[in-house]
Formats: sequence, structure tokens, C-alpha cells
Amino acid sequence: SKAKLFDQNTEVKTTFKDVAGLEGAKEEVQEIVDFLKFPEKYTTLGGKIPKGALLVGPPGTGKTLLARAVAGEAKVPFFSLSGSDFVEMFVGVGASRVRDLFKQAKEKSPSIIFIDEIDAIGRARGKNAMSGSNDERENTLNQLLTEMDGFGTNANVIVLAATNRADILDKALMRAGRFDRQIFVDLPDVRERKEIFEVHLRPLKKAKDLDTDFLSKQTPGFSGADIANVCNEAALIAARNGKKEVDKQDFLDAVDRIIGGLEKKNKIIT
Ligand code: ATP
Repeated sequence: SKAKLFDQNTEVKTTFKDVAGLEGAKEEVQEIVDFLKFPEKYTTLGGKIPKGALLVGPPGTGKTLLARAVAGEAKVPFFSLSGSDFVEMFVGVGASRVRDLFKQAKEKSPSIIFIDEIDAIGRARGKNAMSGSNDERENTLNQLLTEMDGFGTNANVIVLAATNRADILDKALMRAGRFDRQIFVDLPDVRERKEIFEVHLRPLKKAKDLDTDFLSKQTPGFSGADIANVCNEAALIAARNGKKEVDKQDFLDAVDRIIGGLEKKNKIIT
């Protein structure tokens, strides 16, 4: 079967309401929403609209969610691909995929391009001799730089990219006119975790003993993705036990299970 070139979503339903916490990051991307909706407002005085911004932060903190919400708020199509898709790719495929992606996005402009895990293609050149497909990765990266330089500021396509390792990226990516803005997306603090719980509790049948203050205090170090996982897991545990509502004990069991999973994952990494 033929691999999908990239994802394309012309009717994004995600909005800022779906993104809990991250006030600073949301404020910064609100400006990008504005650029997409009212470009003339910004260019009348000779200013140039930025072409790209880097979303930087640990895994599962909502970078993809936030990028999607920008498209949803601006009501523009969302084109996305992941840097990891380019690993082990045949010669020339990466570059041509990037070319197609930008072509489509320009045709459908105003639009958003989102590149997840940009570090997989954007690692500093020549630094990692371990991977055999370095040349192809470089070709892909060069094509990306070419595309970003190629489209005029009035193309009204904004490229968002996510990484948890901004420090290893090729500096060429961060040059003016490319990803010259960085937006930090951090792990949530206790207050933000409470907000994230509130978002993910919405669809559940909840017991009266559920308390988001308590849950947020039980989950230090959890990312938004971990919290989404806890909520889903708790609902499954409750259902398995034949309950009509998801209660506090189900959440405690779910938290234990997620912590167990996190510990295993960390063991593999270290
Ligand atoms: P990665 O770096 O692993 O790709 P990411 O930062 O892009 O992670 P997302 O894929 O956006 O993280 O998050 C995964 C899921 O976790 C989201 O779809 C959402 O359900 C939940 N989530 C993460 N952060 C938040 C948040 N701030 N508010 C609400 N839900 C969140």
C-alpha cells in the first residue's frame, strides 16, 4: 500500500477551549491566528508577517494540540507531517514530499503547515554519524529551508514545527525569515493540571467524589497527554468493574497504572 504523503485537514474542530493551561503560549499563537485572519492589518506599515515558529517543550505537553487549535481558530486548513516519517526513506522521497506539502498548502492558503518532531530532519548537519541516512535527511532539510525562503511573506502560509530538543537543531532553521520565533510549551503546574483534568473529564460520567484539586495534586510531573491517559484509563477501569460512574478509586488506580508505565518507559531510555 502507498504511504500517505502528509495529513490534510480542511475542517479543524480544535480550538483554544480544548487547550488547557499554556496561557503564555496561547497568547503568542493568538497573534499567529490574527496574522492568518487579517494579514493586511499587519502589512500596511511595511511589516513582514513571520513565516514560522517553533513550539518547544517536553513530549505530550500539547504542542500538536496547540498547532491544530491555531488552524481551528483561524478556520484555515491544517497540513501536517512528522519528521520521524522521513527516517529510513528512499533517496529523493523526503525532499519531494516537502515540496508537495508546501505546494498544497500554498494552493489552499491561508493555511498552516505543522511539522512534528522536526529534530528528526533538522538536527545540526554532520553531527550524528550514527544514522546511515544522513544524506537523505540533509536533502530533506535543505528542501525545507528552500521552501521557507521561497515563499513570499504574502503567501499567507505559516509553518509551525515542534521539538523537544531545540538545542540540537541546525541553526540555519532559526535564521530570520524561517523559524525565528520560539514558543515554549512546558509541563503543567498543579493549577494547569487541574484545568487539563477539567477538559478531559468533560466526556466522562463522573461520580460525586471526584475532585480535580485532589487529582491535580496526585499527578506531579504528568504531562497533558499523561492526564488524558489517566482519564481514559479510569473510565475503562470503572466500566470493567461494572460501575455506572467513574469514581475517585478508579482514578487512583489509573494514576498508579500510568506511573507504572512511565517508570518502565524511563528504564528503557536510561
Ligand atoms: P509530542 O511531543 O509527544 O508530539 P505534543 O506536545 O505534541 O507531544 P500533543 O500530541 O499535543 O502533545 O498531546 C497529546 C494529547 O494530550 C492531546 O491530544 C490532548 O488530549 C492531551 N493534552 C496535552 N496537553 C494538553 C493541554 N494543555 N490541554 C488539554 N489536553 C492536553
